[in-house]
Amino acid sequence: MQVWKFGGTSVGKPERMHAIRDLVTANTGRKIVVLSALSGTTNALIAISELAKANSATETEQKIADLKTHYDSFIKELYSTPESLQKGQQIVENEFSYIRSLVKVKAFTSKQDKEMVAQGEILSTQLFQVYMEEKGESSVLIPALDFMRIDTDGEPELNTIEALLTATLAAHTDKQIVVTQGFICRNPRGEVDNLKRGGSDYTASLIGGAIRAEEIQIWTDIDGMHNNDPRIVKRTFPIRELSFEEAAELAYFGAKILHPSTITPAKMRGVPVRLKNTMEPDAYGTLIANQTTDREIKAIAAKDGLTAIYIHSTRMLNAFGFLKKVFDVFEKYKTPVDMITTSEVSVAVTIDNDTHLEAITADLREFADLEEHDHDLSIICVVGEFKADNEGIALKVFDAMKHIPIRMISYGASEHNLSILVWTKDKNTALNALNERLFYYEDAMKSIFSAQ
Ligand code: ASP
Ligand code: MG
Repeated sequence: MQVWKFGGTSVGKPERMHAIRDLVTANTGRKIVVLSALSGTTNALIAISELAKANSATETEQKIADLKTHYDSFIKELYSTPESLQKGQQIVENEFSYIRSLVKVKAFTSKQDKEMVAQGEILSTQLFQVYMEEKGESSVLIPALDFMRIDTDGEPELNTIEALLTATLAAHTDKQIVVTQGFICRNPRGEVDNLKRGGSDYTASLIGGAIRAEEIQIWTDIDGMHNNDPRIVKRTFPIRELSFEEAAELAYFGAKILHPSTITPAKMRGVPVRLKNTMEPDAYGTLIANQTTDREIKAIAAKDGLTAIYIHSTRMLNAFGFLKKVFDVFEKYKTPVDMITTSEVSVAVTIDNDTHLEAITADLREFADLEEHDHDLSIICVVGEFKADNEGIALKVFDAMKHIPIRMISYGASEHNLSILVWTKDKNTALNALNERLFYYEDAMKSIFSAQ
C-alpha cells in the first residue's frame, strides 16, 4: 500500500480536488490519501479562536461567515450532481454550526483551540469523500482521530498508531482508496490535538511507517526539493535523490517543502518518501530513501533568526563538566541549541528562540564570562554525502565564501552537514556564491578544458 499526502494548495480549489481524484485513481494499487485543510482555512480557524478569546463577538461572527461563504461556493464547483451538492451542504452546515458552538464556550481554552483548528482537515476530507462517491470510486473515509495518538510530550505513539490503524484498515479491505485527515490526532486525555503547523506531512510519514507502506508520496505544487532556495538563487534544480539524513538536515534548515519531523517514522521503518508535484505529475520529483547514488554535494539551505551566545571560562580551563553546566542552562529553559563551536576556553552556541535569552544569559553568568551576544545571524548549511576520507569539500565551500565574513563554522558532527554562521545581511550573497561554486564551477571548468 502507498500513502499519498496532498497539502493545502493541492486541495485548495475545486479543480485541484478533481485533479487529486485523477491522480489517486490513475493506477491501481490501494492507497491511503492524507489531506490537509484547504489553503487558508487553518489560519482562518486560528484567527477565529483569537477573536473569540478577545470577546470580539461581531468580528468572530464575521470571520466565521466569510469562511463559510468560501465553502459554500467551493462545493458548488466541486460537485456536479444535486445529490452530492446536498451532501456537501449538509457537511458545511454541520461543521459551521459546530464552529459557532465552539466560540460560544465561555472559558475558551487550548482544548477549544485544538478542536477549532482540527475542523479544517475534517471539512476537506469529508468534502473529498463525497466527491469520490459521486464519481463512483471505491473510497472510504477513516477518521484520523480513531488512530492517530500522541503521548504527554506531544510525541506520536507509533506502536499504538500501528495497532489502531491496522484494525481500522482491516475493516475496509474492499476499498481501493482510504481517505484520512492529516495534522490531527488525540492526546492521552482523549482530547482532539494536533501534530503542530504543517503536520500533515508528519501524519503521512507516521501512517507510512505504521503500515510499512511501499512508499510515501508528498504531493505539493513544486517539483521536489531544490538544491538551493529558488527565491534567492537564480539557478536551482530539483534534487533527484536524497538520503534520509540529508533530507532531515534540509527540512530542518528551512527547506519549507517538508515538515522537519516528517522523515523520522519513514526512516525508522525504511519506507521511501517521494516528493511529487501535482502540477507536473510525471516529473521525477525527489526520492528520499536509505541510499542515494547522486552527487557528493546535494544542496544548500539556510535558517534565519539566530542569536549567538559567546561563553568564556578561564577558571574552567581544561575542566570537565563545563559543557554540561552550559547545556543544563539551555535545558532548564527548554531552548534548543542549533550550532556549537568550542575552543579551549570558550564555547559559542546559537539559538533560534530567544524568548528566555535574558534568563539564560543571567544563569550562564553565574559561572562564566559572556561576551555581548549577536542577533540577526543565519546558518548556511551545505548538505551532502561527505565521507570521512573526502578531499576538497571544505576548500570549495570556503573558496565561495572568501568575501563573506564568517561568525562560526561547524563540520564533522555528521557526514552530511557543513554549517556556517553568517550575518543575515550577507546570506543572499553567500547562497548565490556557494550555488555557483558548488554546482556549476566544476562543469564550467570541464567544458573549458575539454574545448582546448
Ligand atoms: N492544515 C495544517 C496547517 O496548515 C496542517 C498542514 O497543512 O500540514 O498547518
Ligand atoms: Mg505543508
